[in-house]
Amino acid sequence: LLLKVMEELTGAQLIAESLKTQKVEYMFGIVGVPVIEVAMAAQAAGIKYVGMRNEQAACYAASAIGYLTGRPGACLVVSGPGLIHALGGMANANMNCWPVIVIGGSSDQNQETAGAFRRFPQVEACRLYSKFSARPSSLEVIPSVVEKAVRTSMYGRPGACYVDIAGDMVNAKVDRSKIRVVSCCPDPPVSLANHGAVADAISVLKMAERPLVIIGKGAAYSRAETALREFVELSGLPFLPTPMGKGVLPDDHPNCVAAARSRALLQADVILLLGARLNWILHFGLPPRFDPNVKIIQVDLCAEEIGNNVRPAVALLGDINAVMAQLLQGIRNDGWKYGSETAWWSSLRNKMAANAKISKSLALQSAVPLNYYTVFHHVSQLLPHDCIIVSEGANTMDIGRTMLYNYLPRHRLDAGTFGTMGVGLGFAIAAATLEKNKGDKGRRIVCVEGDSAFGFSGMEVETMCRYNLPVVIIVVNNNGIYSGVDPETWKEMAKMGNLTLIAPPVTLLPEARYDEVMAAFGGKGYLVRTVEELRRALELSLTDWQRPSLLNVLIDPSSDRKQQGFFIKKKEI
Ligand code: ADP
Ligand code: MG
Repeated sequence: LLLKVMEELTGAQLIAESLKTQKVEYMFGIVGVPVIEVAMAAQAAGIKYVGMRNEQAACYAASAIGYLTGRPGACLVVSGPGLIHALGGMANANMNCWPVIVIGGSSDQNQETAGAFRRFPQVEACRLYSKFSARPSSLEVIPSVVEKAVRTSMYGRPGACYVDIAGDMVNAKVDRSKIRVVSCCPDPPVSLANHGAVADAISVLKMAERPLVIIGKGAAYSRAETALREFVELSGLPFLPTPMGKGVLPDDHPNCVAAARSRALLQADVILLLGARLNWILHFGLPPRFDPNVKIIQVDLCAEEIGNNVRPAVALLGDINAVMAQLLQGIRNDGWKYGSETAWWSSLRNKMAANAKISKSLALQSAVPLNYYTVFHHVSQLLPHDCIIVSEGANTMDIGRTMLYNYLPRHRLDAGTFGTMGVGLGFAIAAATLEKNKGDKGRRIVCVEGDSAFGFSGMEVETMCRYNLPVVIIVVNNNGIYSGVDPETWKEMAKMGNLTLIAPPVTLLPEARYDEVMAAFGGKGYLVRTVEELRRALELSLTDWQRPSLLNVLIDPSSDRKQQGFFIKKKEI
């Protein structure tokens, strides 16, 4: 009788149940010894498990779940090389301030000696790439270690956390009565900025002649879109999104000055910085790209971030969404609004009109091979407004960012703070998995990839085909990294001698058939050379909800080089 009341749990079950209790709903990974049982237990606990082809991509996917939902996804990996491959994803998540939980199997507790199979100091290895890294010392403490990891990944500045599971713990058993129940940790507590600092910020804004709001991915993560829209519309201030701040307010909003980015950054005298670091993406907030006397009002929840590179005129330490409400109240009280007919606004508008003209003339060319601008022009015309755009590559990401509009928050995922290439397919799989689990058709996930960027995680097209994720991948193929050569030149080179000595290191195989990679697994592949083929293939892909598609868009391998004059011109402020 006593035996019946006792319920035995395995380590695998404990991990799975603990994750589920902490509302971790998705797991991406690659199984092997010793974590197969963990993946199975996760499914039994109701966690959706997506088997990937490389741990790096699995970790990218899990971290995108964290950014998109505010609750971390889990990444499950085997010991040694499995965990090492996941480090790239952890580093990327940590740099982006996205929550993610990595669960790594490791060698048995009694095999800490040298030479054990796939033995590696995993907890130590993860420390550089995470906020928290630990190995539960017994089955009994697994629920509290998992809770601590999930909580730490979300609270304060979000980031990666690692939990190491000894191989022999996976199948070891413990009686449920011995386990202390650890309940779900609540969403992060929200903090307001200091009242006096809010008043200072308002008066600095009011005195500004050339004010600018910068919207970063912290604003996207904090779900500040509603308060922010009201603030921008009430205050009449121009705003500029960072790459992943795009869509918090729509790119076609009348106050968006993205098309005059360089001038806006250089000439602003007061900048309200919302959830964006003054790192390389924002040219460090320093001359020559910024006015040396610019007054920054810095809003961030991470105190250590305040003052990096530029000492702010006002520091608003708090949650952006909450701080926006404070700022709104401040300007509502006296009905202040920045004029729409100021010299600053007309300078920005003139610049935007001039820049639009240049890219339009390039976009309307239709000569074959196509150029970047023409491709993005037609793609942007056909994409649904609510699609999630994933983008990576060099020119593909840079030019695509200016031409592919975002209309909704958290609808753009790209190489991010770390500039990581290879993130795209993992991100797309995460987004598509979320959409699929909503039941209806959901939003379109469109992956706009450079050919080099695609290669890093290209085998994940098999994952997309396996789970019938209707992702649309557009490979903008210029035969190389930055740029490649055309097929004839390549043939000449091959005839001339040893390719490993003479082929430019940036080259990839000209006109490689990435579309056939997709077709190999049952997805739909299209080879595209002309505007008509591009439009037709994209239209067909966007109506297919059964399987993924890949458009292999062959463009002029010297497309970017030809336009260098344009880039120089564009840089003239
Ligand atoms: P971007 O790449 O868009 O420039 P960054 O990743 O550099 O953005 O900066 C995002 C900033 O937002 C980080 O400094 C992070 O601490 C901050 N942040 C994240 N979530 C919040 C939040 N809820 N409230 C305030 N700041 C946040
Ligand atoms: Mg390329």
